[in-house]
Amino acid sequence: MDELAAPLTQIMKSRAVEQKTRYTNRKENGLCIRCGKPIVQGLSQCDPCRTVRNKYHIKLNQQLKQDVFRAYGGEKCSCCGETEISFLAIDHINGGGEQQRKKIGGGTAFYRWLKRNKYPVGFQVLCHNCNHGKHINGGICPHKRPR
Ligand SMILES: [Zn+2]
Ligand SMILES: [Zn+2]
Ligand SMILES: [Zn+2]
Repeated sequence: MDELAAPLTQIMKSRAVEQKTRYTNRKENGLCIRCGKPIVQGLSQCDPCRTVRNKYHIKLNQQLKQDVFRAYGGEKCSCCGETEISFLAIDHINGGGEQQRKKIGGGTAFYRWLKRNKYPVGFQVLCHNCNHGKHINGGICPHKRPR
């Protein structure tokens, strides 16, 4: 029990140090860094703790996504009208998404970038279908092709 070897006063001196030590010890012993339960090797947190953390991040990301979508006309595909937010993404109207993704990063990093840059023009909300359709159809969603 190495973690109990340290003098009590030293541990009480700083909560931050204590916490860090506990985390390190747990990590080294293959325990969840949050609750100290044994976990699968290679992970840092047990399933319940990861779920809590993921939920928190998902909520933050959803909030960010909603803000960005609202700035670009709402949570709705600008082509087909799809409203399921998990299908929606921001599309570069004139292409160039690849280079930008390399520069800024995809997903959340991209949404954060849009927000930080006060929602620049040249983007729109598209569902994944229309996004993909646009890419394989030379820049125009097949929905918009005259039948
Ligand atoms: Zn845990
Ligand atoms: Zn669509
Ligand atoms: Zn479409």
